[in-house]
Amino acid sequence: MRIGIDLGGTTVTAALVSEEGKILARRETLTRAQNGADSIVDTMASLALEVAKDSPEPITGLGVGTPGAVDVTGRIVVTSPNLPFRMYPLAGRLEEACGMPVTLGNDANCALLGEVFAGAAKGCRDVILVTLGTGIGGGIMVDGKLLVGFNGAAGEIGHMTMVYGGIPCNCGRKGCYEVYASTTALVRMAEEAAAEHPESLLRRSADSADSGMNGRILFSAAHAGDAAALDVLARYEDAVAEGASSLVNIFEPELLLFGGGISAQGEYLIAPIRDKIYQRIYAADGLPRTRIEAATLGGDAGIVGAAALVKP
Ligand SMILES: [Zn+2]
Repeated sequence: MRIGIDLGGTTVTAALVSEEGKILARRETLTRAQNGADSIVDTMASLALEVAKDSPEPITGLGVGTPGAVDVTGRIVVTSPNLPFRMYPLAGRLEEACGMPVTLGNDANCALLGEVFAGAAKGCRDVILVTLGTGIGGGIMVDGKLLVGFNGAAGEIGHMTMVYGGIPCNCGRKGCYEVYASTTALVRMAEEAAAEHPESLLRRSADSADSGMNGRILFSAAHAGDAAALDVLARYEDAVAEGASSLVNIFEPELLLFGGGISAQGEYLIAPIRDKIYQRIYAADGLPRTRIEAATLGGDAGIVGAAALVKP
């Protein structure tokens, strides 16, 4: 039995996870990052000890998925965008506080490990996860090993350049993949289309919604056959496929997964993206092609993957 912790900027969740990757119990509380790093450690330790009470067997270890860069030893958080960690020895501190062996991993990489441990990528050794969210995250596994890079910060899929000199990105560069293919980009494209097509269902649905345009409005207008929404979706699928095709050509994974809330659209979203990727990639006739699928663990991928960090 293992414990996985998903550490977020707002909430922290601990779960009891079986050796088969099943979540048996979970507890969640606020991170309260403003109280400092040591306070976050105390919060994680008490959550872990609480879920451990539900375990019928001894706990073999605890894995933590955290935002930001983790050093290659899995002991130190080098830096984290939303948490007060700078070269912070999180694994050691948490071990002292809860008495269990601790391993750290980057949260996006944990989502990939979760899918490999117990989700859509079970048994795969060459797999890439592209998480479509506010930005684009993900992870790359090559021959059964997570690609972490020289300093632990590899796999920044969202910041590969897709358009040279393109739209400015939050990272300070221009034309990054996530500026065109994140859900933020999808909503921006939908807003532009609604402004151009006042007669569209897309525009009328957004006007009658309290909080304006969002992904749900776009998909429901597309499902209803609205031309403006369908055009946005087709252009979005092109953008997602364009970046993913580069990943397939560089790494030639056995499986490429799309995760994030939007992947709940399933084949409605994935099938056209798959076709567009297959039109773009190098592939030898007669050999199996990279499978393109939706991730299956949804929001649980990170916590199952954190538990997967625990060495058997
Ligand atoms: Zn960027």
